Amino acid sequence: MSQHLNEFLWEKMTWEQIEERLKTVDTAILPCGAIEQHGPHLPVDVDYFDAWYMALKVAGGCSFPKPFVLPPIPYGVSYHHSAFKGTISVSNNALSALIYDIGMSLAHNGIKKIVILNGHGDNKPTLTYAAQMINRDAKIFVCVDTGETSDIDLYNLIDTHNDIHAGEIETSTTLAVRPELVQMEKAVDATLDFNNEYLDFTSDRGVSWYVHTQRISETGVMGNAKKATAEKGKLMWEIAIKKMIEFVESIKNTPLDQLYQNKY
Ligand SMILES: [Zn+2]
Repeated sequence: MSQHLNEFLWEKMTWEQIEERLKTVDTAILPCGAIEQHGPHLPVDVDYFDAWYMALKVAGGCSFPKPFVLPPIPYGVSYHHSAFKGTISVSNNALSALIYDIGMSLAHNGIKKIVILNGHGDNKPTLTYAAQMINRDAKIFVCVDTGETSDIDLYNLIDTHNDIHAGEIETSTTLAVRPELVQMEKAVDATLDFNNEYLDFTSDRGVSWYVHTQRISETGVMGNAKKATAEKGKLMWEIAIKKMIEFVESIKNTPLDQLYQNKY
């Protein structure tokens, strides 16, 4: 196992090994998470762990030469969960500055494609901003995935609408890989009903809007955690990992110029 992980974990290599590997690999995956309340039944590290787990599985499943996986960023923008203990939030400015600096440093090393794997929805505007600034200044490819590559498939597997936090999806994915950390007897149904398609979080017509969690959920859950099963979670991981592998493979083996524009 550790032999396997050493094939792509940036921090486990010497500078000479990294220099050698950079001759054949120009793609790096940067997992970003959050440490924040996930209801009464899940640990606070779900977004952090899931992003990291996903990065390891994706790199492990990619062909040789495998993309680099960077050390995960544990903290995210979680101010809206701060009424619940256990939440540790950093500011949008701090997170974007950190991601920008890491991106510029990666570019300096010779990395040409950065895939930011985001495990926490509310990091999205901040990570997108950082990605844009890295692209502006280093002129490399930077993208942010907050589940876009597979959300459409995952939503087809579940019954709950507005399932966005510690509900059917996140409880299932945690049951699948870390069942010992799930207290299913405390799982609740906290499905949100706004009766307004423009406010619904998972509606195609939904606007981006922000709310402090305690205003809309007493337990911190948004979704129906009771519907979660390990079987659903395994299927979700399988799909999400497969789609992300497909995506990374498609950019990893494509020269930057070609990625931008195949035909002139
Ligand atoms: Zn989460």
